[in-house]
Amino acid sequence: MDVPRAPLRSTAPVVGPPLGTNGTALSIRRAVKTYGPVLAVSDASLDVPVGQVVGLLGPNGAGKSTLMKIVLGIVRANSGTVHVLGREMSPEAIDVKAEIGYVPEAPLLYEFLTGAEYLDFVADMYGMDPRARRERIGQYLTALELAGHENSMISGYSQGMKQKVALISALVHRPRLLVLDEPLNGLDPRSARIVKDLLRSLARQEGVGVLFSTHVLEIAQAICDELVILHHGQVLATGSVADLRGRAGLPGSGLEEVFLSLTGTGDLGEIVQALAR
Ligand code: ATP
Repeated sequence: MDVPRAPLRSTAPVVGPPLGTNGTALSIRRAVKTYGPVLAVSDASLDVPVGQVVGLLGPNGAGKSTLMKIVLGIVRANSGTVHVLGREMSPEAIDVKAEIGYVPEAPLLYEFLTGAEYLDFVADMYGMDPRARRERIGQYLTALELAGHENSMISGYSQGMKQKVALISALVHRPRLLVLDEPLNGLDPRSARIVKDLLRSLARQEGVGVLFSTHVLEIAQAICDELVILHHGQVLATGSVADLRGRAGLPGSGLEEVFLSLTGTGDLGEIVQALAR
């Protein structure tokens, strides 16, 4: 039986005004999310300007993944609003979703497909024409040094190779907003460097807004225009590394000291000493 396909991009109903770029790719206002008694996100607001890379930092359980899932509509917030490219997100806003590329913390791929088949499937979903998709997928396979492996089954890929496929699948349709949950997970230093450079150039040259979470502070320091520090679901501080240093009263310090100071986990040395006893 022929099942008609409904590409996300070309036939998506438009349910609001045209997507603009009023300077902001993503705007979250006063988001709240509880899981039963757990307050995962508490009155959190942040902006990702067009053409900028914003790093979301926070200790384990701070609410980073939950906040990202709220943006995608995977998790429904108790309250608050999300605007993408000037349009409010809603379950019906398919054309807005088509402008987002998302890599979850633990991407799930169809492992019984080859890398090429999987990426083709994703491009198909976005209604990309065959020539554009071949070109773009080929460019990314080469850039991420996966060329030559694309016809092998994903089940045989290493963790880093799977992560690269997940990244390409988030980029293939030229999204204007990227939401990346620990995108450098499992990548070796060389591949991580390639992805960092890629994210910077997508922001600078194509005006893509990038929100990404990481636990690796040097990465955040290296590529982010702005950092948002989340703790117990609340935004503790927002700004450039220099702003945050000033806020923490630690001018000249590294981001690690600033982060530990702002999140009140600066007593780690004592914990490590206690564990060593
Ligand atoms: P990490 O850095 O460890 O990945 P995170 O900052 O991404 O953490 P979240 O995964 O958003 O944090 O979790 C925030 C809080 O919400 C935690 O207390 C977590 O246990 C809780 N939580 C997350 N998802 C669920 C869920 N599906 N059901 C119940 N509680 C959840």
